Amino acid sequence: MNLLDYLPGVPDFPRPGILFRDISPLLAHPAAFKEAILQLEALAREFDYSHILGIESRGFIFGSALAHQTHKGFALARKPNKLPLASHRESYGLEYGSDSLEIQQSTLPQGVRVLIVDDVLATGGTIIAASQLLQKAGFEVAGALTLLEITGLNGGATLNQKGIANRTVLV
Ligand code: IMP
Repeated sequence: MNLLDYLPGVPDFPRPGILFRDISPLLAHPAAFKEAILQLEALAREFDYSHILGIESRGFIFGSALAHQTHKGFALARKPNKLPLASHRESYGLEYGSDSLEIQQSTLPQGVRVLIVDDVLATGGTIIAASQLLQKAGFEVAGALTLLEITGLNGGATLNQKGIANRTVLV
């Protein structure tokens, strides 16, 4: 099974010039979704971590399924003003626009090693912001795992330069 067949590119979304990979067909196909989680699990074995941080919103889907599969804890990196308790915030640039992420200060035990999970790695800005958030909050960053890296934007190389170990299932 080629998982890329279930991640069709949608031209000019959400802005002209962007080829957006739609994960909906993969999620709608039980065998493809299962295979994606198994392949993420195989790569996750290369990391030493006790908790997964999923990035809102598509990172929640893959991160929580992976946490369930691997018996790890799961935490939320949310868009601003969604979390009820005191939180850390980090702003970052995107392939298209800018955004912020927040994590709740008291959610995870202090000092745990956290694996960041998202669906797509593009420029790397989102994962760098998630990594800075985790460090601000006193956690160790084990690395980052994505289902798909968009080629040509050098996200993986950018994360390597920042010292963030990273793996992706598909390019
Ligand atoms: P980055 O910060 O430039 O690496 O962009 C990654 C973030 O944007 C992730 O949270 C993705 O969910 C989202 N993203 C960027 N490009 C795509 C895409 O083609 N399909 C789905 N999500 C994307």
